[in-house]
Amino acid sequence: MNDKEELWLSVLSELELHVSKPNFLTWLKNSRLIENQDGVALVALPNNFAKEWVEVKYNKLILGSIRNINRETKRVEYVVEGSLSKPSTQQARTRVATDAPSGQLAFQEMRVNPKTNLNPRYILNSFVVGSFNELAHSAISAVIESVGTRYNPLFVYGGVGLGKTHLIQAAGNEIYTRYGGNVQVKYVTSEKFTNDIVWAIRNKRTEEIKQVYRNTDVLIVDDIQFIGGKERTEEEFFHTFNTLHENNKQIIISSDRPPRAIPTLEERLRSRFEGGMIVDINFPDYETRLAIIKTKLQEKGVFMEDDIIDLIARKFQKNIREIEGILNKLLFYQTTYKKPLDLSTSERIVSDATQQSAVRVGPGQIVKAVSSFFEVSIGDLLGRARNKEFVEPRQIVMFLFRDILKMSYPDIASRVGKRDHTTAIYAYKKIDKNLKEDRDLNQKILMIKEGLNKSV
Ligand code: ADP
Ligand code: MG
Repeated sequence: MNDKEELWLSVLSELELHVSKPNFLTWLKNSRLIENQDGVALVALPNNFAKEWVEVKYNKLILGSIRNINRETKRVEYVVEGSLSKPSTQQARTRVATDAPSGQLAFQEMRVNPKTNLNPRYILNSFVVGSFNELAHSAISAVIESVGTRYNPLFVYGGVGLGKTHLIQAAGNEIYTRYGGNVQVKYVTSEKFTNDIVWAIRNKRTEEIKQVYRNTDVLIVDDIQFIGGKERTEEEFFHTFNTLHENNKQIIISSDRPPRAIPTLEERLRSRFEGGMIVDINFPDYETRLAIIKTKLQEKGVFMEDDIIDLIARKFQKNIREIEGILNKLLFYQTTYKKPLDLSTSERIVSDATQQSAVRVGPGQIVKAVSSFFEVSIGDLLGRARNKEFVEPRQIVMFLFRDILKMSYPDIASRVGKRDHTTAIYAYKKIDKNLKEDRDLNQKILMIKEGLNKSV
């Protein structure tokens, strides 16, 4: 065993004492210390979600236990296992799921262009336009026509699986082919950007990294929401942004929410984003969903009965990635059993799939999620003790009951063993108010909500 492994093993055994068993197994067990140099410990976690979770929740604890052993360490940085690559343009490695933080593999990433980091699969031709995305589509078209001068930055936001990555990559591909080698295009996820910055700091190569990013004509940053709260990265991005912007270089950004709703985003970055063009992608209507399904079938060169297409379009309304998923399932069935699909078989497959993905959150799950997040027992969480470490989590439970489940105040109060419903009103108002000022709290609640979506 080398020094790093040994150090990390003893850190883990200390963490194990402070963290509940399930949390330890879920979040920490599969971590690894990559480096510990120049006062920075670099820790790898298996996926983006674990990374964010550990960063928010355990950073203090981890830093503390490393410092018990090694006083030199001043800071801990976290990265996703396998995502750390030497950020030279020659070496754009095939990324695995870096744009799919929810753990789903978006698709098999193929033949990523090492110069641009773009996937040639994403083209405008295969992008179906409907009223839900036509604003975003026309803004992208304008950007392609007049790179850097029209809408800059262009900020595209919308929910998961609605085509943000497809659209911004298609723009990159179009610009790249249309303007040949004269225009340097670079696509990164905000996570890759962060990793590059961390790598550069670690290796004292920040100048080099600056050059890579500042020498592009079109910088496309996907899922910018993950940059929020990462100070060094935000700082570097801010300067890169300014340099590019001042030189009329095009910046295209995507996010799952508008700038003002990214709680931990620095104010100056927020106002930069708001200084450009902001467009959203909504949910596709029924006719557009039909068109999308038919386009996908055509691309695959397969036939499907209209009633089955209609079934899919009715059942999958909010996520085009899910539409692709169910199509693949149905077609898989067809090839495996070598017989054409009938409606009732399709209905069964669809209903299996939707039941799996239906997220049904109830009060029980909320209590469990908060209890696990704060590591207080359910008994303490719903009990009467006024200890500081129970009070806030308890108020958060009440807040989430109201916020997610829209429960009535008397209902909420009785669920947490209170006779008086004004306690519930007070808790809700307090958390709601603090959320607006307290970044930490905001982040905690975001993580708990995200955890809820994953665990059920
Ligand atoms: P997001 O980045 O918003 O999560 P993606 O761009 O990854 O979503 O899209 C999810 C999947 O749906 C991709 O495979 C993409 O090709 C497909 N898709 C999204 N929007 C469209 C569209 N308008 N037309 C055709 N396919 C689409
Ligand atoms: Mg995406």
